[in-house]
Amino acid sequence: MAITDTISVASSDMGWNFDNSYARLPNSLYTLIDPVPVREPRLAVLNRALCESLGLDAGALDSDAGAAIFSGNMLPEGAQPLAQAYAGHQFGSFTMLGDGRAILLGEQITPQRERFDIQLKGSGRTPFSRSGDGRAALGPMLREYIISEAMHGLGIPTTRSLAVVVTGEPVQRETSLQGAILTRVAASHIRVGTFEYLSTRGDLEGLQALADHVLDRHFPALKEDANPYLGLFHTVMQRQASLVAKWLHVGFIHGVMNTDNMSICGDTIDYGPCAFMDAYDPATVFSSIDQGGRYAYGNQPHMAQWNLARFGETLLPLLHKDTHKAVELVQEAIQTFPELFRRAWLSGMQAKLGLFTQEPDDLSLVKDLLTGMQEGRADYTNTLRALASAAMQRAPALQIPALTEWLSRWQARLTRQPQDLDAARSVMRAHNPALIPRNHIVEEVLEKATRHGDYAPLKRLLAALSSPYEERPEDAPYRQPPDPSAQPYQTFCGT
Ligand code: AMP
Ligand code: MG
Repeated sequence: MAITDTISVASSDMGWNFDNSYARLPNSLYTLIDPVPVREPRLAVLNRALCESLGLDAGALDSDAGAAIFSGNMLPEGAQPLAQAYAGHQFGSFTMLGDGRAILLGEQITPQRERFDIQLKGSGRTPFSRSGDGRAALGPMLREYIISEAMHGLGIPTTRSLAVVVTGEPVQRETSLQGAILTRVAASHIRVGTFEYLSTRGDLEGLQALADHVLDRHFPALKEDANPYLGLFHTVMQRQASLVAKWLHVGFIHGVMNTDNMSICGDTIDYGPCAFMDAYDPATVFSSIDQGGRYAYGNQPHMAQWNLARFGETLLPLLHKDTHKAVELVQEAIQTFPELFRRAWLSGMQAKLGLFTQEPDDLSLVKDLLTGMQEGRADYTNTLRALASAAMQRAPALQIPALTEWLSRWQARLTRQPQDLDAARSVMRAHNPALIPRNHIVEEVLEKATRHGDYAPLKRLLAALSSPYEERPEDAPYRQPPDPSAQPYQTFCGT
């Protein structure tokens, strides 16, 4: 398909059904701008199941016309493209940001009347690009596709990935790479940083409009509260507590939990230097730029609380006329976060251990398991998955000397609940995934796709990751931890 000077509108019926509520917000929140056309778009991956659930015709989109749409060369009917403005605390320092390489096409209303943002990532320069080229490389866009879909398969709230197209244009990073665009689907792209952007500008009217938009769009029941904005703060805290607990449950490390990468609705967003932990160690960091371990595995709950404090600050003028009272409300609320997190985390860990009842000693039972895993450098995912077999007294499933004593203590604990071992085993199998997107496997399939144009391994991996709680013999290679002699895995931000 040749490069287009002006973007045409796709008129054929592909199921697009846009309503662009974000474009009706105060115009300081965005810049209306079209994606920059690309030379030769070609579909690399298309998420057919997600197409169907959005009410889109996968057959019609699996075509040159689909490639044109997912590259921004052609606009779907009803789209109103814009780049969103936002700010953010990056590693603790405040910066004005915005979509520097993304365009929100609009909000697709599904047949179930749900609303989802459709965003192109890597779609060219915008007024927020600063020194960036507005583009993205194929490897990182496929990586976001794999990890976000894996998170969805694991049952963790996340943005989704609808398609990746190669652009037919190179992007210059450390070397010259193939350019690509990811189509991202999200309940919304509103971030803590979106609130910070308005708050910094002292734009009270904008702040109120954004908060009301968030209430309408994500939390309509809160509008009945005596103080809906306080309800909003509590609810966003609850969502983040639950989200970060789920990350910890599966060994996920986001890697760059800046406030601009924290979504208000509680989805995992902005897959950059993220990765899954193999051997259990709470100090694990993969990102090359996170020298201080600010966003290390075990530090994620603290950083979530730190980010939420920044969110609370932006809400002050909406919470109470009297600033002192407003500050008190935020302080009182934010102090509840550690307990919100602890409850979400512990109940998930109890399920992972097959516990239906509560005992006062459960927290130390969980902590001692983790300490034993750390001492034994045990693989986090495989050890937890093996517990379901170990519960049936088939202890060889778990040969970690540091855990021998712990094992009998836990088996005794299982017998003190009314539910039988079969029930415990089922709950454990449903909460301890057999599969995660292991770093070395992801690298392997990315290498085949980006270097050799061979997408079969990537598609096989995606299919397996869509049901990660099932244990299929053919997926055994995906369950192998990395070779102990392998270099420590590192991720990079220059995506
Ligand atoms: P991230 O680290 O991906 O969350 O991005 C931080 C900020 O940098 C966001 O405002 C992005 O839009 C922007 N950004 C990242 N990469 C590029 C790029 N290649 N061109 C323009 N802006 C970019
Ligand atoms: Mg970001």
